[in-house]
Amino acid sequence: MHVMSGGSGPAVTDLLIDGKLLPGGAGTFGTVNPATEERIGLAADADNADMDRAIGAARAAFDHGDWARDVALRVHCLRQLRTALIAEIEELRSVTVAEVGAPVTFTYGSHLEGPVNDLAFPADTAESYSWKTDLGVASPMGIATQRWLVREPYGVVGAITPFNFPHQINLAKLGPALAAGDTVVLKPAPETPWCAAHIGRIIAEHTDFPPGVVNIVTAGDPGLGAQLCRDARVDVVSFTGSTATGAAVTAAAAGNISKVLLELGGKSAFVVLDDADLGRACGAAAVAVSRHAGQGCAFTTRLLVPRHRYDEAVDATAAAMGGIAVGDPTDPATVCGPLISARQRDRVQGYLDLALVEGGSFACGGGRPGTLDRGYFIAPTVIRGLDNTARTAREEIFGPVLVVLAHDGDDDAVAIANDSRYGLSAAVWSSDPQRAASAAARLRTGTVSVNGGVWYSADTPFGGYKQSGNGREMGVAGFAEYLETKVIATAVGTA
Ligand code: NAD
Repeated sequence: MHVMSGGSGPAVTDLLIDGKLLPGGAGTFGTVNPATEERIGLAADADNADMDRAIGAARAAFDHGDWARDVALRVHCLRQLRTALIAEIEELRSVTVAEVGAPVTFTYGSHLEGPVNDLAFPADTAESYSWKTDLGVASPMGIATQRWLVREPYGVVGAITPFNFPHQINLAKLGPALAAGDTVVLKPAPETPWCAAHIGRIIAEHTDFPPGVVNIVTAGDPGLGAQLCRDARVDVVSFTGSTATGAAVTAAAAGNISKVLLELGGKSAFVVLDDADLGRACGAAAVAVSRHAGQGCAFTTRLLVPRHRYDEAVDATAAAMGGIAVGDPTDPATVCGPLISARQRDRVQGYLDLALVEGGSFACGGGRPGTLDRGYFIAPTVIRGLDNTARTAREEIFGPVLVVLAHDGDDDAVAIANDSRYGLSAAVWSSDPQRAASAAARLRTGTVSVNGGVWYSADTPFGGYKQSGNGREMGVAGFAEYLETKVIATAVGTA
């Protein structure tokens, strides 16, 4: 990060292209603290020429450098990056709280320290991976042949990320793609350029990554993301964001037949079976949807409860929501901070207004908390009185909003949960392990939590069924997404 010429201007971050920290061709754009609505500084605003140079640098580093073949260099650089990020963790923590509005408590986990520590996983995986496997000798078509299975990097990865968990998502792409031997151009969300730019600066200043291996291109214009998807020099597009943008990304990449990895939206169900501890389950559902103002793709936003206990469940959930600390993300007690922007706040408010039009009502919340007069806040909200046909129950709201739906038993609950175009995640609560396991097996989602179990971990693949995405991130499966498969077949005894 540098300070604008004259020394007294606001802090400005840089692009990282071909190993150099550079200003943006389009100047700068502001980054805003969503809790205060104040501009906290400026980010380099890349133009199309910057993106073109970044892709060219990544291509050259892959085609002409040692990166793709030198596993030890890759492991060394990733471990160096992890150490350097840990050394600056307090500065990264303040940037994350200020720019993302992430409650500081969560920066000790999945908002920052979790993903930084998890960089160990792709480095360790690369070190121990079977890059070449002996498939033995066979005689297909009568020719004795020694077969080898070889895993190789694809080439250039274009990584495009959203605003909600910038460190987690940026690092869950950079780590495995780089460990696999690919080179990367990362375009982060326009709302959270600083989180990515700080990683770029740390790479340039404190690591031995060869020039061009990692390029970080911040931009106010989402069109630069589309440019990255369309470019024929990019072999893999790894995208996290909304399902609508994922469709545009897929279309843009189709002309080059690029591999497209998609981590998209969700409308995940929290299923409470009739033998569960209703109070505990509803309390857990209330907290799950209110963390980070509900801005989590896999957060459970539909609460399915037994019909005969519907009122009791709504009351328990609303009571738990009422106890959630909303407000200043720098306060360690805060669970629900602000939404990222006025646009997102207005979008969420639009869905709350729609819920009333659709015949629902609020058991708590419904708009800005009365105690906060600035910042993009929405109070944790419980909507009652709708069924799963309502748009409020079907569409991703991306705010601290829980729609409570009634079910008539296990089969009905599973059917309602699966009646969605999304399939990202789900939760099941039951006191009977067999019933919980049966429901979990029938849910069409990439992850399922049973009675509060946690599926998020560096060694656990994450991703969606249906329109929640393609491919997996994290775990060995996520690492392997960044690898091509080659077979070398050598005739035996003919040389
Ligand atoms: P978004 O789709 O608006 O933007 C995501 C990224 O795509 C940004 O960097 C944006 O600039 C870029 N972009 C926009 N238009 C583009 C185009 N035509 N071509 C290429 N890139 C383009 O998403 P958002 O609002 O930043 O994030 C919220 C969404 O992300 C939610 O739908 C959420 O569910 C989803 N999400 C999914 C996961 C997951 O792992 N499944 C994780 C986090 C967020």
